[in-house]
Amino acid sequence: MMTVAKSKMAPPISGAFLSPPEELRFVGFQWTALMLSALLAVLTSISTFDPPSVRWFLFAGAATGVIVALRARYAQRVTVIGGVAATAMAIGLTIIVAITIQPAPMGVIMSFGLLGIAIALCTFEDPIRASIESSICAIVGSVIIVARSSIPFAAVFIFVSLVVLASSSVLFLRHSLRVSRDEAIALSLTDSLTGVSNRRGLEIRFSVVTAMAVRTGQQLGCLMIDLDRFKLINDVHGHAIGDGILKECAAVIKTCLRPSDVCARIGGEEFAVFAIVDGPAQLAIIAERIRAAIENQGTIPPVTASIGGSCGAVVESETIDALLRIADMALCAAKSAGRNIVRLGS
Ligand code: GH3
Ligand code: MG
Ligand code: MG
Repeated sequence: MMTVAKSKMAPPISGAFLSPPEELRFVGFQWTALMLSALLAVLTSISTFDPPSVRWFLFAGAATGVIVALRARYAQRVTVIGGVAATAMAIGLTIIVAITIQPAPMGVIMSFGLLGIAIALCTFEDPIRASIESSICAIVGSVIIVARSSIPFAAVFIFVSLVVLASSSVLFLRHSLRVSRDEAIALSLTDSLTGVSNRRGLEIRFSVVTAMAVRTGQQLGCLMIDLDRFKLINDVHGHAIGDGILKECAAVIKTCLRPSDVCARIGGEEFAVFAIVDGPAQLAIIAERIRAAIENQGTIPPVTASIGGSCGAVVESETIDALLRIADMALCAAKSAGRNIVRLGS
């Protein structure tokens, strides 16, 4: 008998961009904070600043960066406010270094640190926030370059072009990954021959249709559809013709259902349907519509199907097992009664 894993949930629906898994964002945040702090500490030790007292402020900034990384590790998460505060601190310290470091051309080089910050943001952050913060990096960097460069226009042009190119490339890559991942998920949930859900797809869509039945207070209808004497069709006409008929039957079953109903191929020539219905009378109408549509679809050779069904209110998880068991038994009854028949169990 068929069973459905009831605990499986539908895949989360996220935005148009793939976000790195939470653990990776968390590790990325820690290491970025640690590396920037180390870089700042080394740079501060070997450089001169105007005024010189800035040096101590920068050492304090590097120490704070280490504390931020350790705190994130201790708390095992990074909040949105924490991420924004750390970004603001990184941008602020970069501005201070770039404005006060000597000689002036070093300030221009330092402002390119904002390019690195923009890339990190576009890799790990929410895309909208990353775009805003990257734009801030581009503006701040341009102001610093104008203040410290002897060729400000050329330097600003190169800097802004690099920020825009790098940020949009990273975001484009995240979008492409998201599209590829969604395609791979859709393929893994679909039966390759007929295009309806496979068992895994059924398990995932099943939880959605069950929740909808509970929410609307309607009943969950379950149909088991088994093509009649299909082995004979294969034996006489060949497997390729059999495959074609399976495809046509799946398409015909789908035309008898609403988009919210679930149809899956659960065995060689067996399909399961889950639909939200008012009661047994409505389920019987749907089942009869499917049976007649398969019989009258005009395949050569002709094919028929036996259908067993059951329905009931989903009050507890055992109800679903009971529905599947009853539909299975009703299908056996339909076969015993001569095939090409609908039987509903109770
Ligand atoms: P019944 O009316 O009792 O259901 O008889 P049946 O012949 O349909 O049932 P049985 O279980 O004996 O045979 C099912 C057949 O379905 C066996 C196999 O040849 C065929 N089948 C299973 N999967 C596929 C498939 O992917 N393609 C094709 N062409 N045939 C398949
Ligand atoms: Mg069968
Ligand atoms: Mg069969």
